[in-house]
Amino acid sequence: MQDREKDVSMGRATAAIHRGGLGAPIYGEVSVPIFQTSTFGFPSAEAGAARFTGAEPGFIYTRMGNPTVHALEEAVTALEQGAAGHATATGMAAIAAVLLGLLGQGDHLLAGDCLYGPTHTVIDRELPRFGISATFVDTADPARVAEALQPNTRLLFVETPANPTLKITDLSAMARLTRERGILLAVDNTFATPRLQRPLTLGADLVVHSLTKYLNGHSDVLGGMVIVNQVEISKKIRRFLNLFGGTMDPHQAWLILRGVRTLALRVDKAQANAQKIADFLEQHPRVEWVRYPGLSHHPGHDVARKQMDGFGAMLCFGVKGGLAGGRMLMNHLRFFTLAVSLGGVESLVQHPASMTHAGLSREERLAEGISDEMVRLSVGCEDVEDLIADLDQALQGIP
Ligand code: PLP
Repeated sequence: MQDREKDVSMGRATAAIHRGGLGAPIYGEVSVPIFQTSTFGFPSAEAGAARFTGAEPGFIYTRMGNPTVHALEEAVTALEQGAAGHATATGMAAIAAVLLGLLGQGDHLLAGDCLYGPTHTVIDRELPRFGISATFVDTADPARVAEALQPNTRLLFVETPANPTLKITDLSAMARLTRERGILLAVDNTFATPRLQRPLTLGADLVVHSLTKYLNGHSDVLGGMVIVNQVEISKKIRRFLNLFGGTMDPHQAWLILRGVRTLALRVDKAQANAQKIADFLEQHPRVEWVRYPGLSHHPGHDVARKQMDGFGAMLCFGVKGGLAGGRMLMNHLRFFTLAVSLGGVESLVQHPASMTHAGLSREERLAEGISDEMVRLSVGCEDVEDLIADLDQALQGIP
């Protein structure tokens, strides 16, 4: 395993399967064991002291590091082509570690104007309590981002594709703006996954993930990760997580690592399904509009084509009859479970205005581009004919 881990020439599907091992298997095991232990015995008092100073390597206490968690960190860091990764209890814990671990009193944050609802709420309602101010800006337009920069701006935080509008941000353009001013660029890469987009290679400094979604892929566990490109940033994130405690449990890490092994298969299948569903919805008489980066009229299509290896498996649309029509549709789908979250093998449908983004005011939602009638799909890995037939029967029910 060790030799294979040093091989940088492997493809991404191979890396998802072969990166993130123990270095040396204990009994020749093929799956990384779950080190379900809260603490680690020291061979001597001197060795224990040396581990605490960092003079000797070795695990100390699971909040500070654990072999199973480390295997997952190593795997996802390799996929994102980062320098270091830190696994967290949830995606929100990863976002909190970036915002609170790197920003302080008097700092300004620039954030994309379309974000996962709770991320927006944290930035808008919680950060001011710590003396951190923020401006939301349309990151699809680099000129607006340049105008919104302030002398005390320390971080630019974006999601691309964004939840739920699928807005696309040109990451290389953002990096050109931030790099020359010494501002950090953090990207929530949950929707794209490293299978389709690697922000660190486009100039970002940090990537955050809700591992709960595609990286795990089976809707059965929560998790998050911060991946960074510099050791100095890694130290700050690690310190924040160790002290504030939002780290990951080994059993959680083991489940997510199992999901990572099949990332390529799942994402490739789900996005092929999503493209077909987007094409189907586009021509359906009861559908008013569709937003999917893979459609040539999507405003971010060209940028997505340039910076992504595929358009992902999330899409949103509006039906005739607005919200009432959308509710009727959601209540009549069989293979799309009506549930929040995304990125599992099973397809899901939800209503952002009353569910994931209900914490925002209507004005805030409209400013983000989230209309009342918007329905969001997380397309899974089922047979696409079944998904299309299901959508068709539910759409037929709309008067
Ligand atoms: N980022 C994005 C884009 C998300 O969609 C979500 C959850 O839906 C999160 C972060 C938060 O992740 P978690 O629920 O694992 O805390």
